[in-house]
Amino acid sequence: MSYTVLRGGRVLDILAGTADPADILIEDDTIREIGAPGCVAPEGAVAVDASRRLVHPGLVNAHTHSHGNLAKGMGDRWTLELLLSAAPWLGGNRGIDDLRLSAQIGAVEMMLKGCTACYDLFFEWPLPSRDGMAAVASAYAELGMRAVIAPMVADRSFYEAIPGLADALPPALREKVAGLRLAPGATTLAAIRDGFGAWPADRALVRPAVAPTIPHHCSDDFILGCAALARDFDVGLHSHVAESKVQAVASLKIYGKTQTAHLDALGVLGPHFVVAHGVWLDEDDMARLGDHGASVAHNPGSNMRLGCGLADTRAMLERRVNLGIGTDGASCADNQNMYEAMRLASFVSKVQGPEWRRWLSTREAALAATEGSARALGLGDRIGRIAPGWKADLVMLDLDHPNWLPLNDPVNQLVHTEDGTAVDAVMIGGHWVVRDRRPVGIDLARLGTEAEAARDRLAAINADNRRLYDALEPVVGSYCPGLARMPYHVHRYGARPK
Ligand SMILES: [Zn+2]
Repeated sequence: MSYTVLRGGRVLDILAGTADPADILIEDDTIREIGAPGCVAPEGAVAVDASRRLVHPGLVNAHTHSHGNLAKGMGDRWTLELLLSAAPWLGGNRGIDDLRLSAQIGAVEMMLKGCTACYDLFFEWPLPSRDGMAAVASAYAELGMRAVIAPMVADRSFYEAIPGLADALPPALREKVAGLRLAPGATTLAAIRDGFGAWPADRALVRPAVAPTIPHHCSDDFILGCAALARDFDVGLHSHVAESKVQAVASLKIYGKTQTAHLDALGVLGPHFVVAHGVWLDEDDMARLGDHGASVAHNPGSNMRLGCGLADTRAMLERRVNLGIGTDGASCADNQNMYEAMRLASFVSKVQGPEWRRWLSTREAALAATEGSARALGLGDRIGRIAPGWKADLVMLDLDHPNWLPLNDPVNQLVHTEDGTAVDAVMIGGHWVVRDRRPVGIDLARLGTEAEAARDRLAAINADNRRLYDALEPVVGSYCPGLARMPYHVHRYGARPK
């Protein structure tokens, strides 16, 4: 048994809105006791001076994509649909080592910015493999970061999923995108089952989940197959739902109902289900999610960056939806900064109108980025708060940093002022992963060399894919906004369709 005691830090209690001085006793990976400063610690306990530090629960990123980290900053003005068209350029021809490297880059960024756990929907082309899952799992495990990693899968390509899109393409392009067809659903499900059966990591730190990427990119049989896998392995399900208006309209055309109503009819909603985004959810959708105890991973930065819109988090909370916050992937965020995501969640709520009582408070934003996201990861009973029995996933902020001069209100400043620059130290499961503002256990210079080499190799090998995107952009970039001009009801924009 090993003990650490953090002495004299100001320990944040988000609910109470306080940050009183206290000592935190940690036994192995778990918080044992929060006591008055100077409290007695077991013999041999390692004492750490936390004076002039604010100690807050590690932030939990409810939605990201590790494969995006090698593609950060590669584009500017693109909608979700243009981003999906760019996928072969941004993420094509990746090898197993690229999956690992991309996950390492994201994990280091998140930890340096106060995030201790994430839900990673990673992509492996043409289908998930045991080696791919092991590479991503080991990237987190070796760095000591907690993660839920979900192979992101489908059995229909983007061009098969959007009604009328394939027909809108010139024949030569239609032929090219036919080559992007995905593996049969049964093959993909068998590959996931194989990977889960040989899980390489300690599930307490890195556990699997299943991510049928977007409902109408998946046949019903495939979604049901994913749900069966989740049941068999007792893991989560995570899907992009009601993210863009194009998706919302496409769903009505395909199912005659919303994506959420369709998922409900299939019987796959439940406390283990996470909806990513939910910008275009209507009241009934939110009620369905709330009644099933499901979560929404709210990604305000991505929603604005891709022009998807502003999610109504107040309406979600009113319908008892569990609210988590995420950054989304680095090709649409483009950073992995949970402080920024929290801040934007607050601002996106406030920009929607002058009814200030309906705005998300900083307390609600901070709870969503900790306890709410933790529940979305299926870890709501062990991470997301500083309390005896909870895992020791902690962040220490430097109170001498200008962000905290002076300390007026710990929760308001955590959400609205902090930007990650005051992060001094981060602990996950009792292990230090950041100390003195530096990551522990990884050589950043080596990571940089590997990232630059991968960039050069991938840029060369994906040159044709980039040309394909350049050819697709004008067609997809006209067809999809055209689809989105169709009137669509969302409760806050007016009445239901006639
Ligand atoms: Zn996403």
